[in-house]
Amino acid sequence: MPAAPYTSPLAEVLASDVLGRFLRYVRIDTQSSRERTRCPSTPGQLELGRLLVAELRDAGLDDATLDENGYVMATLPPADGPGAATIGLIAHLDTTTDAPGAGVEPIVHRAYDGGVIVLPREGTRLDPAAMPELAPKVGHDIVTGSGDTLLGADDKAGVAAIMTALAHLASHPELPRPSLRVGFTPDEEIGEGATLFDIERFGAQCAYTIDGSELGELQDETFSAIEATITVHGVDVHPGQATGKLVNALRLAARIVAALPDDRLTPETTSDHEGFIHPTHLSGSAGRAQIRAIVRDFDEHKLSEHVALLERTARDIVGAEPRARLELEVRRQYRNMRSYLDPVPYVVAAAEAAIRAEGIEPIRTPVRGGTDGSRLSEMGLPTPNVFAGGHEFHSVREWVSVQDMAAAAATVVRLAEVWTRPELVAGAAQGAS
Ligand SMILES: [Zn+2]
Repeated sequence: MPAAPYTSPLAEVLASDVLGRFLRYVRIDTQSSRERTRCPSTPGQLELGRLLVAELRDAGLDDATLDENGYVMATLPPADGPGAATIGLIAHLDTTTDAPGAGVEPIVHRAYDGGVIVLPREGTRLDPAAMPELAPKVGHDIVTGSGDTLLGADDKAGVAAIMTALAHLASHPELPRPSLRVGFTPDEEIGEGATLFDIERFGAQCAYTIDGSELGELQDETFSAIEATITVHGVDVHPGQATGKLVNALRLAARIVAALPDDRLTPETTSDHEGFIHPTHLSGSAGRAQIRAIVRDFDEHKLSEHVALLERTARDIVGAEPRARLELEVRRQYRNMRSYLDPVPYVVAAAEAAIRAEGIEPIRTPVRGGTDGSRLSEMGLPTPNVFAGGHEFHSVREWVSVQDMAAAAATVVRLAEVWTRPELVAGAAQGAS
């Protein structure tokens, strides 16, 4: 059995701190809720926020605050006083609604032997044959839930990595660093993490979400996203008197869904840079029926084509029945961050340099989804995404490697150093002017 493979001596030093924090954070239920009446949508996120503020203050970040909307912000000033760049570090407090999030009981499987990991509840198994990312982690310490809840590595691995890096930097003033601003956001999983994020108050020139997955991942491309709502109005008549009169909206809606391509343009038949039309919800009655669908692509032009196909399909089917009526609503959700990051190439280059400084080869993959950074970049804060080490997000099989989480923390420490390099600071100053 090889010794647990740390990416660097620094990662090894940070490992016990990052694990201790992670185990603390995942025990707090921060599952967000789609039935949002206030921000944050659930009180558990405030509880984690309060804990983080206390821990940030303990580490010496005296200005740490939790605002009324559940956003945590704090500053680690530069070692050499003003004049340095101001860089943001962002992770989200909440967990997904896709799997149970309360009562997480984390288990640390020390020195993984490469076999199937069987969890104590509900027969949940982590089989390396079905999880290509798990197989190479032999020798790693793997953290899982107990089989009946998610783990919360998405994104408490990112929160723990940032907290560990900040504590390390704060206690080592000799390590070079810019001014670091930390921001922990609520309600990211319901697409609202950036909504009340005060970019002005944050005051960073760029930021990094630590919300990626596999070791070395660096992402500057997300989907562009549209949500479409199709409402069909039929003519509802008592079925006993319906002859020649009833127009069943539910049947028309079902025909629209059935007419969409299912051998392409679906999430399950596409990968990499291909987009899709994904009906997520169908409800209704004979009188009125509604389809909700999400439409995704990396390319704005192709995205418009997918939306046009969806509209055409609905119009053709409903248009063939003159007594039925169609309503279409198209709502922009977020935009591919790439167009906002391309003009400031040093932002991604700095992350790439930091990952390499940690001894890791960067992996550049597009995010088939969105991050807080998609909307923050659009709002004026360029924010690519960096790995945090977790896998099988949004499921009861979610797991994270302690060594990879420690590597994420070490990468943040490296990133701080990279942002003191004179050529980068000068380039950024020029880019900003
Ligand atoms: Zn996440």
